[in-house]
Amino acid sequence: MTTSTQTEVKHVGLYINGEYVPASNNETFNVTNPATQEVIAHVSEATDEDVDNAIRAAREAFNNGPWSKMTVEERSAKLRRMAEIIVERGEEIARLDATDVGKPYASALKGEVPRAANNIRFFADFMEQKGGETYPMGESYVNYTRYEPVGVATLITPWNVPFMLTTWKLGPCLAAGNTAVIKPAENTPLSVSLLGEIAKEAGIPDGVVNVVHGKGSTVGTALTKHPEVDLVSFTGSTRTGSSIMKSAADTLKNVSFELGGKAANIIFEDADLEKAIPGSIRAAFFNSGQVCLAGSRILVQRSILDDFMNKFTEAAKNLKVGDPNVEGTDMGPLVSEAHYNKVVSYFDVAKEEGAKLVYGGKRPDNLPEHLKNGFYLEPTIYIAEDPNSRMNQEEIFGPVVTIIPFDTEEEAIEIANATNFGLDGVLWTENLRRAHRVSHAFQAGTVWVNCWFVRDLRAPFGGYKQSGVGREGGHHSLEFFTEAKNICIAL
Ligand code: NAD
Repeated sequence: MTTSTQTEVKHVGLYINGEYVPASNNETFNVTNPATQEVIAHVSEATDEDVDNAIRAAREAFNNGPWSKMTVEERSAKLRRMAEIIVERGEEIARLDATDVGKPYASALKGEVPRAANNIRFFADFMEQKGGETYPMGESYVNYTRYEPVGVATLITPWNVPFMLTTWKLGPCLAAGNTAVIKPAENTPLSVSLLGEIAKEAGIPDGVVNVVHGKGSTVGTALTKHPEVDLVSFTGSTRTGSSIMKSAADTLKNVSFELGGKAANIIFEDADLEKAIPGSIRAAFFNSGQVCLAGSRILVQRSILDDFMNKFTEAAKNLKVGDPNVEGTDMGPLVSEAHYNKVVSYFDVAKEEGAKLVYGGKRPDNLPEHLKNGFYLEPTIYIAEDPNSRMNQEEIFGPVVTIIPFDTEEEAIEIANATNFGLDGVLWTENLRRAHRVSHAFQAGTVWVNCWFVRDLRAPFGGYKQSGVGREGGHHSLEFFTEAKNICIAL
């Protein structure tokens, strides 16, 4: 049987101007496997000088290299090759995400790797098909629009879905002709560190894709303050988004932020529970609940509360918590000790607030010996009736959900929107009019009706309120990564 035990410790360098290099002061930091606490990699920690070198390489490649000047067709061909290489190296990528994030290998391989390849391929195709605008002014003038690359972008990504989320930014960034300096989260840098060499293998010129590693407070800040960086595309927590906005303000960089969430998942009495139960289980516990889009507040109409609770709790009990590298595991560990402690601290909050524990709230009892140091938690369900409690307001980002009973549709909408977040909302009903009404009333960038986590890459994706700034997806991504230029010609 495959297990999470690793023997070989990797050495991961910074990827600058087409090659892996050590940090200028030779410093490294350790990355551990959260299923076992074993050290799995020593990763070079970028200094300010290294960050500067990476940005200068990206600037040189943008200003004087062929990338931003080649035809869209030439660029897109290289990006399509990059997508193929991602698929070819899919097992390696999924194994790395399973090892430093602790996510189930099978779901990374079947879900995130193909999606990552598609993120690159989609924007290559999309850019080729993109037209411009023309505005004739009678017979006297004509205006037409060009979409030109902006320059150097920094792409900063979180630990929960490292590879897929980075390609979601890198695809449109490169398709539009920009160059990039990527900074993955410091606890999960392994899969993303491959992107430089994958780009090179696809024929993308040196300096176009650079990857630096280190803490957000040092490396992230250096990237977002640097005068030679034009764009900051960031996915992560709302608090970090706010810091980045301050860092980027002096040089007026354009920012695109995908931030936190606390989605309401509303179960109406006319829902088809055959679908709503597995759908809500996935929305609650997929990736151990470490998903910005997680349906972590489950609003249940009181008339079906008992039935829903019985079925939902039973399904949660049946989830397999264990080794990410074993087929059939539904939930791996949480990503790190610090994050585990943060999630566990909410068990005290729940007690203080009088929330009722229905299931979970502890480490699983039956973990195998080799996982005894892993940061594991059972899927955890509370009934927390007060919509304004911390349990219902703060993003816990773990396998912890609250159930909030409600009586009427109006009440459900009010509770759903009573948060500073607005990334997504979910609802389950067989009533078509209600589906539309509630979707319209949701203050959220994405609403899922009788489904969850379904994505069309052309559709806008982003958050209302403190869940984001701007939108990604289709032309929304390309608008961020291009400068629209209007050319007006006298006829
Ligand atoms: P985080 O904000 O702590 O870190 C994200 C990234 O930002 C990391 O690479 C980190 O090193 C870097 N960073 C931290 N401080 C920085 C600073 N001052 N300047 C520049 N960079 C800095 O988030 P996390 O804990 O890694 O990820 C979890 C969060 O991400 C959750 O809030 C989750 O909801 C959110 N998320 C959002 C989406 C979305 O699409 N909206 C997707 C995934 C995760």
